[in-house]
Formats: sequence, structure tokens, C-alpha cells
Amino acid sequence: MPDINLATATAAEVLGALNNRDISSVELTQAYLSRVDALNGHLNAVITVDHEGALTAAKDADDARHRGEGGILNGVPLLHKDIFCTSGLRTTCASRMLENFTPPYDATVVSKLKAAGAVTLGKTNMDEFAMGSSNETSYFGPAHNPWDLSCVPGGSSGGSAAAVAAGLAPLSTGTDTGGSIRQPASLCGITGLKPTYGRVSRFGIIAFASSLDQAGPMTRTVEDAALMLNAMCGLDPHDSTSADMPVPNFHDALRGDLKGLRIGLPKQYFSELLDVRVANRIQDALKELEAEGATLVDVDLPHTQEGIATYYVIAPAEASANLARYDGVRFGHRCDDPTDLMDLYARSRSEGFGSEVQRRILVGTYALSAGFYDAYFKKAQQVRRIISNDFKQAFDQCDLIAGPSAPGVAFSVGAKSHDPIAMYMEDVYTLSVNLAGLPGLSLPAGLINGLPIGLQLIGRAFDEATLLKAGHRFQLRTDHHRLAPPFGEIS
Ligand code: GLN
Repeated sequence: MPDINLATATAAEVLGALNNRDISSVELTQAYLSRVDALNGHLNAVITVDHEGALTAAKDADDARHRGEGGILNGVPLLHKDIFCTSGLRTTCASRMLENFTPPYDATVVSKLKAAGAVTLGKTNMDEFAMGSSNETSYFGPAHNPWDLSCVPGGSSGGSAAAVAAGLAPLSTGTDTGGSIRQPASLCGITGLKPTYGRVSRFGIIAFASSLDQAGPMTRTVEDAALMLNAMCGLDPHDSTSADMPVPNFHDALRGDLKGLRIGLPKQYFSELLDVRVANRIQDALKELEAEGATLVDVDLPHTQEGIATYYVIAPAEASANLARYDGVRFGHRCDDPTDLMDLYARSRSEGFGSEVQRRILVGTYALSAGFYDAYFKKAQQVRRIISNDFKQAFDQCDLIAGPSAPGVAFSVGAKSHDPIAMYMEDVYTLSVNLAGLPGLSLPAGLINGLPIGLQLIGRAFDEATLLKAGHRFQLRTDHHRLAPPFGEIS
């Protein structure tokens, strides 16, 4: 192997080595696969490894490079969250319901990344149907945080975050419905971007809450996130909610300084809910952005706290509708020896879904039921609009909003799994961003007792370019994103 340290390598570095012919994609893919095989027993970050498919794709990438062809990620290994349908490769959504489901087609994100030349190594662990903030609701067991194996990696894209942090792949995909890219990125010390709703196609992503779900890159650096976003995004005729908006070259957009950029600080993001040690790290990070020419202004997001109740009505309501399709008839788990149709439905669903998913279905069905629709679902939609308007007003005074990605650092496995409300509070700084459909970026911002924390930057709709530019300038000044967990040194 040439001079590539897989524990810390970025996609940009790996691409450089591939383009210089220092290494082939087959060699690189083999090396990452060996690393997955050696380390995944400790992390449980990957549910399915596709050795054969990865090596075939790597060979194709090498051939394309020899012909002078290949996309912007040609030959770069990557992992997909197990919520993305992958043709011919098992896609479980970390549920018993889909334990044996092999999709007949690729999600648009998957086919676009393939077209860009990325090599799929396998599928990552996650909370079941993306419901959770710790990866503990997975049917395949919890994933572990490489900074401290007794801690959770966050969720729901916990396997993707742990895998990138531990150098099992330089890139992975995630999805974010209420924080599931940004919170695990924060807890694992990596970079995670939730794009604007509509920027990335949802076609072939197993639906949780369709008005909130959005896919995005999970990477070591902002530079890699910019590359990957370009490869993933754009209008898709298969998804009527994907946006017909111009797609800038996000990598080019990284250039330039932050002079004149106004960064808004909502007082609600720095309340007593926030661990003071996290608050201090965020203040340090803001000083770096000021040193780059940004100015800090106070803004108000008065309904931040209401975001939690609003989200936890809307997301379960949409989930209850989306998950109605798992009826044991067409696909998914089917119980043995049903006595009649009702028994088939009831037992297939009780056996196939874990308890958090069942809780969401119950809450969502209740909130949508005839007698309670106005009091819950309709009211939540009204508050959603108010929250969206709060952001609009804040963006009259600033260009970006900054705050923490999560209220604290990674917690021990088991610490919150029996207290759903404590778990839901993990999303207090992220889920309003989904309710408003805006882009949000989590950046490594330092360690507290050896565990990472994340700075969150929130942008205007479809202005990922400004977010990425600010994030990139931050990473040029700091080295938090270069720190690798001690675990990553193994092998
Ligand atoms: N933790 C939140 C939930 O459990 C968000 C999950 C997500 O973004 N997929 O719903």
C-alpha cells in the first residue's frame, strides 16, 4: 500500500492517489474490505458486506480510469445506510420486517453514486426504520462509537457515522428526518450534511416521514461532502418532491472568504438544556468563524421547544401511513400459520416491527384518527408553519444560523433506551430544521473528555453552497476533523 492511512484518509486524498496511479481501486477496495472484516466485530457498524460486488465495481472503475473515463468519485469506496434500496443487495432498514428483502432496483442516490464511480462496500447499521437517536433500536443490535465502544454512535445513521469515524470507508450515505445525519456525525466526530428538502431524490429510500426525509453525505471533511453532494443530488422524475433547482458546483463554491457573512445565534440554542462544556466549545468555534470575517448577530427562534412536540406528531403520523404497506402479504416478514387475514396482519406486524416502531405507529395512528386529527395532526401542521416562519424572519438578519448539533456528547449504550422522551431530546437542535425544510451541516468542533461534539450551521433553502463554504473555512483553520478515534489505530 502506498502512503494512505485508511484510519484518516479522505475521499479527496484517495482520489488523488487513484488519479496518480499510486494505487488501484481494486487494491484500495480490498484494503477497506479487510479493515471492515477486522474491525466490524467491535463496531457492528455494517450489516451487510458485499465483497464480490465491491471488487467487481472497483475493477470496472480501474478499467474506466485506464480508458480516461470515470465520474467524479471514480474508484472511491463508500458505504450506504441500509435504508437505501440496492439492486440485488439485501436492504433491511435494520428491521426484522425486511431481514430478507433484496430490492429489484437501486435508489436514485445509489445509482447516481454508482454512475459517479463510487464503489459500494456494503450497508450500514441504523435505528430500525430510522427511528431513534442511538442506533439501539436496530434489529441487528447496537452499533458502537469508535471513540468509546461502550457509548452509542448516535442515530439513526449511527453505523454510517461510526464507519467513517473508524475509517471503514471514507464516505457513507445517511438520511435525516429529524437529525439522523447531524446528531451521529456530531457524536462520532465527522462531517454530516442534511441538504434542503428536495435537493436529493428520495426515490428508493425506504420511507419514514416523507415530508421530512432527506439523504445526505457523511464524510470526514466538508470538501468530501461537497464532492459527494454533487454526485447525489438533482431533479429526479421518480420523485415528485425533488426540486428543479440549479445545482452549483459545490466544490468550486468552497473558495472565498467569509467577509460580510452574518451568522445568527438563536438564544434558544444556548439555553440551560445545553451542556456548558458543549456551549464553550461552540463559542470557541464561533471565534474561528469571526476570525474568518464573519459577524455574529443575535436572532430569535421562539418556537424551538415546540419543535419537539410538533415533530413527534408529524413524523409518527407519516410513518404510520408509510408503514401500513408491511402487511405480511406482498413483501416483508410473514408470520407462520395464520388462522385468518386479521391474524396474518396482526402477528406479521407484531413480530416484524420492534417496540419503538410499534410505538410510532400507535402514536401516529392516534394523531390521525377522526376524533383527534384536528387536535394533533392539524395543530402540528400549523405549528410547523410558525416554526418555518421563525426561520424566515431570522434569515432577514443573518445568512447562516449557528448552534450545537446535539445537546451533549455520546452517552453509554442503554443510558436512554428506556426513556423515549430523553432520547427524543437528542433532536432538539436539529428537528426544526427538517420541519422548515432547510439545509444543516454538522462539523467536528473538538472533544470533551475524549468524546466529540458538533457545531451545527443552518442555511437558507437551497443555499448549501454558503454552508459548505463556511464549513470549509472552519476546517482550514482547525484540525478537529483530522482527529481519529484511538480505536481507528487498530490494524
Ligand atoms: N431521532 C429522530 C427520530 O427518532 C430522528 C430520526 C431521523 O432523523 N431519521 O425520529
